[in-house]
Amino acid sequence: MAYEIRTYGDPVLKSQAAPVTDINGKVARLVDDMFLTLRESDSGLALAAPQIGVQKQIVVWDIDDEQRTIINPQIVESDGEWVYSEGCLSIPDLYVDILRPDRVLVRGLDLDGNEVEFEVNELMGRMFQHEIDHLNGVLMFDRMPSDRRKAALSEYRQMQESTGPVEPRHLPL
Ligand code: ZN
Repeated sequence: MAYEIRTYGDPVLKSQAAPVTDINGKVARLVDDMFLTLRESDSGLALAAPQIGVQKQIVVWDIDDEQRTIINPQIVESDGEWVYSEGCLSIPDLYVDILRPDRVLVRGLDLDGNEVEFEVNELMGRMFQHEIDHLNGVLMFDRMPSDRRKAALSEYRQMQESTGPVEPRHLPL
């Protein structure tokens, strides 16, 4: 079943997700449901379990026709700088330029419990950083200097109050 995507203000988005200790059938079903939720969102590239209210360290993504899962992901190395206009399924319609490291090396487990490693940059590097932030209860707003955060929050609130259609700039994370 598809879950409801939790949005800004829901306390689950501010909480620390727990590592998965047993990759069992329940985890596999949850991952299926996360992909279903992502497809039904009709725009998202990736989803972290806390975004559907589950405090577990699981991330799925669907980018360039590749559907993958990582469990208990950790960033073990990062370098460079890259500014990207980030969007988030849990902060609908808001896009903000955020500077983060460009390249990351991420380690975690696949659904068979094997260790997997991704060394990626640009969009893929950003996806991992954004989703791993979700596992740690960190949102885009927390990655902005306080003056820009205030402006972004008020822009978000105004957008939530307006009823007109919003053109997505590109696909959110
Ligand atoms: Zn997000």
